[in-house]
Amino acid sequence: MSIALIVHGGAGTWRPGSDADALAGIRRAVKAGRDILERQGSALDAACAAAVVLEDESVFNAGTGAVLNFDGFVEFDACVMTSHDKGIGAVSGLQRVQNPILVARQVMEMTDHVMLTGDGATRFARVMGHPDYDPVTPARLADWQDKKQKLAFGIGRDPQASMKIRAFLQSHPEYAGGTIGAVALDAQGHLCAATSTGGVTMKLVGRVGDTPLPGCGTYASIDAAVSATGTGEYVVRSFAGREIADRVARGVALDTAMNAVLDQMQADFNADVGFIALDRHGRTVAAHRTAHMPHGWFRNDGLTEARMQA
Ligand code: ASP
Repeated sequence: MSIALIVHGGAGTWRPGSDADALAGIRRAVKAGRDILERQGSALDAACAAAVVLEDESVFNAGTGAVLNFDGFVEFDACVMTSHDKGIGAVSGLQRVQNPILVARQVMEMTDHVMLTGDGATRFARVMGHPDYDPVTPARLADWQDKKQKLAFGIGRDPQASMKIRAFLQSHPEYAGGTIGAVALDAQGHLCAATSTGGVTMKLVGRVGDTPLPGCGTYASIDAAVSATGTGEYVVRSFAGREIADRVARGVALDTAMNAVLDQMQADFNADVGFIALDRHGRTVAAHRTAHMPHGWFRNDGLTEARMQA
């Protein structure tokens, strides 16, 4: 049986010079997952361990260092999904915890539900023993203050500008992604996908993206597991994770399936998105339609790699 793992650190445009930090984090995450898989651990444990490493690395937009919403605080989305038992756990609008992916996992394992949101998610996290934690880093705060100021002097004069903020963000080259994701295949043949994010920067309070929505930003079937990144609204409107896995179920090769979905999303929305995925044979694929998407993988043919671009 193959074992394999692939992780990403977000589709977007990374600032020059931030590559080294991103790739170091990616390598640490691959190692954390690999160690578990090589000891016959589960895909769920491996994907979550890799995700925790990336959440704790402040260069990424998840956990510590996640982006701030329009009002200046962090709302996390995260989801974990397992193939063999159709397990799903998700959180949206979760606040002030260190590792949202672990809360999502606990929703799956400790409750009857698949998703908790907002205050309920945060209350559940506290019951599960996650202490109050401030994820805001000085760099993210400065970035938010800068954008807020530019908005105030520019299109922000329009009181509704914050509701259509994508054009503003695209015109600012410092815009970057940074969502994190991990997908793993264990020796039992089980697949798991895990994705965690602060969402899109300056999002409206209460906005839920693709990350916690099963079949959109996070998906695992017996054929393939997928984690998405980029502007989540396009991923949701394409049901992209499920679409890729369903094509694989119909016999399409994973890379062909992923590129077909990316082409369709480009035609439909000119979508700035990317994916990582893994099939049940342990084939890993990464593809994106953004300048960068740091990612790294390990397969049991011995190949381990980390790259900024696919
Ligand atoms: N997909 C994430 C969201 O829309 C953001 C990202 O991946 O950059 O919430």
